Amino acid sequence: MAEPVLALDDLTVRFRLRRGELTAVDGVSFTVHRGETFGLVGESGSGKSVTARSIMRLIPEPPGEIPRGRIDFEGRDVLGLNDAEMRALRGRRIAMVFQEPMSALNPVFTVSAQISDALRTNLGLSKQEARERVVELLALVGIPSPRKRLDSYVHEFSGGMRQRVMLAMALSCNPTFLIADEPTTALDVTIQATILELITSMIERFGMSLIFITHNLGVVAHACDTIGVMYASHLVELGSKREIFRNPQHPYTVGLLNSIPRLDTQAKYLTPITGTVCNMMDPPQGCKFHPRCAHAMEICKREIPPMREVAPGHHAACHLHGRQ
Ligand code: SF4
Repeated sequence: MAEPVLALDDLTVRFRLRRGELTAVDGVSFTVHRGETFGLVGESGSGKSVTARSIMRLIPEPPGEIPRGRIDFEGRDVLGLNDAEMRALRGRRIAMVFQEPMSALNPVFTVSAQISDALRTNLGLSKQEARERVVELLALVGIPSPRKRLDSYVHEFSGGMRQRVMLAMALSCNPTFLIADEPTTALDVTIQATILELITSMIERFGMSLIFITHNLGVVAHACDTIGVMYASHLVELGSKREIFRNPQHPYTVGLLNSIPRLDTQAKYLTPITGTVCNMMDPPQGCKFHPRCAHAMEICKREIPPMREVAPGHHAACHLHGRQ
């Protein structure tokens, strides 16, 4: 297997709010290798985006804090980098595509100005060189007549085109690692497929690694080699796409798979997961999924299940898989 690029070990992220303390990410560990596409899946509020933003050190402190854990990127401890080192890492080594380009891009600057800024700061290009590079980048992500769109503002683009602009900005400084945080969620279904195709083709073309965050298992089935499933701040299952889809071991993953339409089964109806996600300000003891789990046992209400290897390279955090 290729060398590890990013390794999270026991990452824990907490927020101190007026109403109390909220643990958004609790003891999350996984590794992404060079050229690997890693899908992080779960419902809203499961901790996926906070995990991604922690890697980029974009968690405001306070109210956020990382009391425990480690994030290693290309052999360096990200949590130990100073502001200047972090600025050098962002954009040049790791870039991020956000869910909503209208909030991530600046509405008062032209597209050219925003992308050029990153190019001039990070790569030292002149104004003219940066402008030419922006034309290339817009063409690369499929913006028609890119030279004519240089001085357009974000609101002059459609949703899909804005997401292309975001991708152009993310790719501008030739990063080796891309984090895409629900990049297709706000788009029409037909545009979603096009953007997904574009992201995967860019990843392949430039040999980048990818973390793709989504609540949609159908999307990771298309785009990812490895899948991590998060529920209520915990990583509950981790394995290859094949293992997760063919041999899911955590009842939450099974529930997610049963609740998406599939062409390869005869099932007439979808089976939703009963109940709702727990209140993260006051989560249940033990396994946080136990109030919704049809297999819950007494131990599930008391003890948080540890991650255990259930098959080579496939891990699940569930008491059904016995105690060590
Ligand atoms: Fe269900 Fe218990 Fe497994 Fe949690 S640990 S998923 S409650 S069986």
